[in-house]
Amino acid sequence: MSEKEFEKELGFQTRSVHAGNSPDPATGAIQRPITMANSYVLPYDPSTVNWSTAEGNVYTRNGGANQKYLQEKLASLEGGEDCVVLGSGVAALSGLFFSLLESGDHVVFSSVTYIAVYRLLNELFNNKFKVETTIVNTTDPDAVRAAIRPNTKLIHIETPGNPTLEISDIRKIAEIAHENGALLSVDNTFASPFNQRPIELGADFSIESLTKYINGHGDAMGGAIIGKKEYLDIIRAQAQVNLGATISPFNAWLIMRGSVTLPLRMKQHNENTLKIAQWLEAQPGVSFVAYPGLESNKGHEIAKSQMKNGFGGVLSFGLKADHDTYNKFVSNLKIITSAVSLGHDGTLIVFLGEDDERQYLYPEEFHNGFFRLSVGLEDSEDLINDLKNAFNAVGL
Ligand SMILES: *Cc1c(COP(=O)(O)O)cnc(C)c1O
Repeated sequence: MSEKEFEKELGFQTRSVHAGNSPDPATGAIQRPITMANSYVLPYDPSTVNWSTAEGNVYTRNGGANQKYLQEKLASLEGGEDCVVLGSGVAALSGLFFSLLESGDHVVFSSVTYIAVYRLLNELFNNKFKVETTIVNTTDPDAVRAAIRPNTKLIHIETPGNPTLEISDIRKIAEIAHENGALLSVDNTFASPFNQRPIELGADFSIESLTKYINGHGDAMGGAIIGKKEYLDIIRAQAQVNLGATISPFNAWLIMRGSVTLPLRMKQHNENTLKIAQWLEAQPGVSFVAYPGLESNKGHEIAKSQMKNGFGGVLSFGLKADHDTYNKFVSNLKIITSAVSLGHDGTLIVFLGEDDERQYLYPEEFHNGFFRLSVGLEDSEDLINDLKNAFNAVGL
């Protein structure tokens, strides 16, 4: 049995601990060390080096030791052939788009995505590089099919989508993409590979902001593209080397360390978030709760069919209140911190929406402003009490 086949037999938790790690041959250390070097010794005949690939270690922008360990682990966790790790989630997204798309190509993308995807595809790639782009509500596979053109090269979806938590059907959209000679990329950041593995569901690429669940501790940024080597070699040669969004060895090491506990943390995120979503749904001052784990949620059935272990740690909710009350409510929270980002150990809340230019793309209940809550690893009772006390303080 080859090493790769052997590894596939192992469970997700075992791979979270062991993939990408082995004793360090130089020192015998049982953890691979941080290699803080920006350059590596050249071979006897440097003319044999291809400066545009990441084969072998030459220069850290082309690939370094810690980056490669993390790539090994993430390819294993996502069930993909290969992985490219970059300096942020947005670097992974823009690297994918930059490498795959040419003038005259067409892209279909989800109406609800991370804001940089909207900027890249709806403002930059179309205006600067003449890439045709269509925004589609990808919760409806028929709408995706209807948007396909002969030159459609890529469909990019985000599920659950940030910040509305809407669910798109990965299996169905992968079929539509492949029937039409297009590729499917899925931003898997909200789910993490513990809950959802897009490549196993038929997608060509899974994109992760490592800044979120995979690192999990709110102390480093990174991004990853997982998929077939034939495409990732192009992304390395074109985007990693020439756009230069290299991850630092230290951040790659931190993320590697954080990812060991990904399955344990996700279990707690999944459990806490479902409890809090159910509690919020029963509060008279709450106007709506968006969480795919709720049976009342529109995307619940599809989420159940493609999210194996749970529904993730992010939910959004609205309050029956005015703007000033929103701010007062947040200022009364003692455990929950007002900050962007998500997937951290600590619970984070952010007020969004009232002046978001993309409001017209969101379901109606989101139009008057809403909160995105990234539920952390604390005791759910303490989080519920924190929310309860803050509601009471503002008369909700
Ligand atoms: C945060 C986030 C990104 C961007 O990742 P960075 O690491 O902040 O660049 C992309 N997609 C989703 C869904 C995110 O939540």
